[in-house]
Amino acid sequence: MQNISVIGAGTMGNGIAHVFAQKGFTVTLIDTQPAQLEKALATIARNLDRQIAKGTLTEQDKQSTLGAINTSTTLSEGVAKADLVVEAATENVDLKLNIFRQLDEHAPQSAILASNTSSISITRIASVTRRPQSVIGLHFMNPVPVMQLVEIINGYATDESVTKKMTALSEKLGKVPCVVNDYPGFIANRILMPMINEAITSLFEGVAGVQEIDTVMKLGMAHPMGPLQLADFIGLDVCLYILRVLHDGFGNPKYAPCPLLVNMVTAGYLGAKSGEGFYKYTPGSKDLVVSARFNA
Ligand code: NAD
Repeated sequence: MQNISVIGAGTMGNGIAHVFAQKGFTVTLIDTQPAQLEKALATIARNLDRQIAKGTLTEQDKQSTLGAINTSTTLSEGVAKADLVVEAATENVDLKLNIFRQLDEHAPQSAILASNTSSISITRIASVTRRPQSVIGLHFMNPVPVMQLVEIINGYATDESVTKKMTALSEKLGKVPCVVNDYPGFIANRILMPMINEAITSLFEGVAGVQEIDTVMKLGMAHPMGPLQLADFIGLDVCLYILRVLHDGFGNPKYAPCPLLVNMVTAGYLGAKSGEGFYKYTPGSKDLVVSARFNA
């Protein structure tokens, strides 16, 4: 396995391209937006510089990593020689189904087709291809070059040999793979999102303030980040989307998103990326300031 095509050059796609290229794979990074490809290459170069500053990488490693990444805006050309495709495009069911129909058409018959989706059913994605046995979830965590976990998701029809190959490949990338089955939220988000939703509900019901809730979980449970800050970092729209997947998928009211979360997303308060969520974010500042809306 040598040629890796990565679809989508956003937050996750640039990190996935980075780790594969750094480990000696040949990467083709594909996006419909040329500006996203340029931005991704600049981000990768900046992150490699950070590794050099830490003493974990040499300038020569940086050049060989960047030299191993090609870019393309045409999916059919970009996947023509792929041994593995990792799809990391926008989290939208119809968009992903459409991409996998095209991958089935244009990627070599022997290629494994993986999705980095946080919440969409791998079984559903696989069902639009003529090779569901070769479709699998490879759920990298953000930021990809830093986070060790890869959640590997077996679709209903995924072949055991494909799972074994992806487990070995994840280890080759220096990651720790965990194999799980394809049910809503897999494991990571099935456990994380109800915790975040409960933190938001505690705030909504006035049990405690933003700072208190996050401090209890940081100092009491040794979490590096409180659940409200983490929700802001992930994006409140993304959290809401995943909670809806859990709610619809299990039909259990315990997954119903908190009305406060729904209101915040509807009003465009999406967390760090929009400048305000539970905290207020000022470009260039690392201070954690609680949003004035939640100050008593
Ligand atoms: P993003 O919005 O940063 O990037 C998505 C990229 O996909 C954009 O550059 C967009 O131009 C591109 N794209 C859209 N349609 C395309 C198409 N048809 N062909 C090629 N490129 C296309 O999104 P992201 O945060 O990187 O998320 C990507 C995937 O990774 C999603 O499935 C998401 O659920 C998953 N994920 C995200 C995180 C996270 O923390 N952001 C963590 C784990 C998994």
